[in-house]
Amino acid sequence: MKFPEAGWRFDNSYTRLPGLFFSRTHPTPVRSPALVLFNRRLAAEMGLDPGVLESEAGADVFSGNAIPSGADPIAQAYAGHQFGHFTMLGDGRAVLLGEHLGADGLRLDVALKGSGRTVYSRRGDGRAALGPMLREYIISEAMHGLGIPTTRSLAVVTSGEPVFREEALPGAVLTRIAASHIRVGTFEYAAMLQDVAALRTLTDYTIQRHYPGFEPGVFRFFLEAVIERQALLVAKWMLVGFIHGVMNTDNMALSGETIDYGPCAFMDAYDPATVFSSIDRNGRYAYANQPGIAHWNLTRLAEALLPLLDSNENKAVEMAKESLGKFPDRFHHHWLSGMRAKLGLFNQEAADVVLIESLLQGMLRSRSDYSNTLRELDPEKVCGFDAEWHASWSARLARQPQNLEQARCLMRRHNPVVIPRNHQVEKALDAATARGDYEPLHRLLAVLANPFEDGPEKDIYREPPPEGSAGYQTFCGT
Ligand code: AMP
Ligand code: MG
Repeated sequence: MKFPEAGWRFDNSYTRLPGLFFSRTHPTPVRSPALVLFNRRLAAEMGLDPGVLESEAGADVFSGNAIPSGADPIAQAYAGHQFGHFTMLGDGRAVLLGEHLGADGLRLDVALKGSGRTVYSRRGDGRAALGPMLREYIISEAMHGLGIPTTRSLAVVTSGEPVFREEALPGAVLTRIAASHIRVGTFEYAAMLQDVAALRTLTDYTIQRHYPGFEPGVFRFFLEAVIERQALLVAKWMLVGFIHGVMNTDNMALSGETIDYGPCAFMDAYDPATVFSSIDRNGRYAYANQPGIAHWNLTRLAEALLPLLDSNENKAVEMAKESLGKFPDRFHHHWLSGMRAKLGLFNQEAADVVLIESLLQGMLRSRSDYSNTLRELDPEKVCGFDAEWHASWSARLARQPQNLEQARCLMRRHNPVVIPRNHQVEKALDAATARGDYEPLHRLLAVLANPFEDGPEKDIYREPPPEGSAGYQTFCGT
């Protein structure tokens, strides 16, 4: 029987870049692919036919056993600073099938993660274990629900093959959908090869794809636009207590999407020093360090772009410094606007920062849950929190023209009822990987799809971990 049309419409612009940016490659087929998660809603949004893809034929495509017509699979080349150290990298366990054009002309990368070895695999096996792929699916879809730019997850397929980590684990392939997979590390790679023509082509390509308002060639404006998008993205992370966990430059996307869900996790009790990643021993990527690290990564991008900014190196450095110098203010601006909304504030007063900081300090002292404290704030109820703080917040609310109901409404739209709490994520993953029971995972996904609405089905997902989140650890490269 012929595979019915699923609606794929590929146009692979990345393969028209200079050949040094990628290697043509094929996913390594797996033994017995089985579709365990499929994102019907995303498929429909992409103009794909969910009915056709939620099938054995779909499992073949999402495992890499069958290549959809029009795809032209490649592994992308890139470099990156990992924990501060420069390394040549590339897709070691991922394959970009191609770019699918959605109904509205939107260009989306369709990539398989865990699809076998490539020329960039180094010592890795090119594979992924089921647990971490399900975890990426949950967290990326949760981020989307929270309104934070992110890559998406279309499907998870089990391979029927074991992968060997500390123990044998079931293998899986995730289908990741992204505006693109162009990273800061892609620019570092071109710069490292000292191929200015290729660097210029990559930059013009990125401008056209993600910053289409700009004329190609206006490299300085491009740099500032990237800085602006990252400032906004990291502010959004901070506002919901998201900790990326591995903000290496190869994990920062030029599209401004959150990418690479390895050791990420959400903070429960407020503590700026929170780190979950087992390999982040010095806390480089701790919660409060994220804006500074984004700034550091953007500095690596600016360095790579120097040859394009000005032919005079000193001038180029001056320009880059001036543009980079805008990051802290832009971050602060987005963070402060977001915090004001979380506190129901429509207008601005100079002392708002003090009000916000003293709330955070109070949370830190009392080890209060970050998300729940914010969601439960009520101008007319002193709820277990510092009464003095509450009085100054109430007074502040009274000084704006909007009434309390309007303030509450604003707060409900900016303080999620649910976040993907670590213990709930673990429970759902455990049921799926140990018992093949996907019910808890589906329930969790349903709740995370609209995290700002109250509902009785949400109640158990609001509970912080009974034992606190101390000791919770996440892992990389799994
Ligand atoms: P990540 O920590 O996921 O950002 O990965 C960093 C680099 O290691 C990327 O180049 C990945 O492609 C590569 N990598 C991670 N896991 C594997 C694996 N199992 N096999 C081959 N390459 C891998
Ligand atoms: Mg990565």
